[in-house]
Amino acid sequence: HKADVKEFENLGQIGSGTCGQVYKMKYRPTGHIMAVKQMHRSGNREENKRILMDLDIVQKSHDCPHIVTCYGTFVTESSVWICMELMETCFDKLKKKIGSLPENIIGKLTVSVVKALDYLKEKHGVIHRDVKPSNILVSKQGDIKLCDFGISGRLVDSQAKTRAAGCAAYMAPERISPDPSHPNYDIRADVWSLGISLVELATGVFPYSDCKTDFEMLTKILEEDPPSLPLDQPFSIDFQRFVAYCCTKDYQQRPKYKELLVHEFVKRYERTNVAIPQWLNSVVGMAKTASLQRVKSSQSGESAND
Ligand code: ADP
Ligand code: MG
Repeated sequence: HKADVKEFENLGQIGSGTCGQVYKMKYRPTGHIMAVKQMHRSGNREENKRILMDLDIVQKSHDCPHIVTCYGTFVTESSVWICMELMETCFDKLKKKIGSLPENIIGKLTVSVVKALDYLKEKHGVIHRDVKPSNILVSKQGDIKLCDFGISGRLVDSQAKTRAAGCAAYMAPERISPDPSHPNYDIRADVWSLGISLVELATGVFPYSDCKTDFEMLTKILEEDPPSLPLDQPFSIDFQRFVAYCCTKDYQQRPKYKELLVHEFVKRYERTNVAIPQWLNSVVGMAKTASLQRVKSSQSGESAND
């Protein structure tokens, strides 16, 4: 039986981003509940390429426990649906709810994300390029997984690069002979993004949040010392070192996944048991209790007198 979009019942929106919306949906024939990401298609060639890349990678990543499972996809004239495993929430929402996160949760997140990125690179030759807290999800069971490969780029060997380059006569000098200190992209760009995400989750604030314009932010990233964990807070030395390691400004000095995987911070949280479901319950449960109280007080008319 081939699934049809008409067999899905929309149970409400989970979130929205630059590429589209995510809905909670029920697949009627089986009663299965899932998350469906809907992206509108403009028919733009670049966009189509990106969508196909995304579908290609999510469907091939079933064997990685640190990547969100994709059940299937629909591509219609006007939209693309990606049906995936429903997770409890993302780390951006958790941060917004409680501010900073405890180190042991971030430690577990780090282990999962580094393994997911290493898997993408080793198995599929892919870099993610959109590592951020909203693309790191956690399930009720406490599994932490990476999602969203919409703008991931394929790492190409030099031969493929030349072949893909097209007509050399019209090519800019930097494309013909790329400055080795400024490559278009490298897997280590994702390592930097991970470092920034870790600082954001540990402190509760995005390191460049005080910048008024993108220009100001980019200037800061280029000219200032990289973000780091504040020394006056109780983070372990390993955690501080791991963040500093990821946020190495010179990408040639920045570690690759093989080095991150043997770092003491990763090793420690690989060994350590963390009760993520219980923690999640306390955080999500807290919010649920609060909204229930709001409903109750408004029903009893209390809030009208506030
Ligand atoms: P962005 O990542 O830029 O915030 P997205 O459209 O990718 O935008 O996702 C919007 C939100 O939907 C995310 O922040 C996340 O909280 C939620 N989300 C995405 N995929 C899932 C999923 N599989 N399960 C539960 N929530 C999800
Ligand atoms: Mg996303």
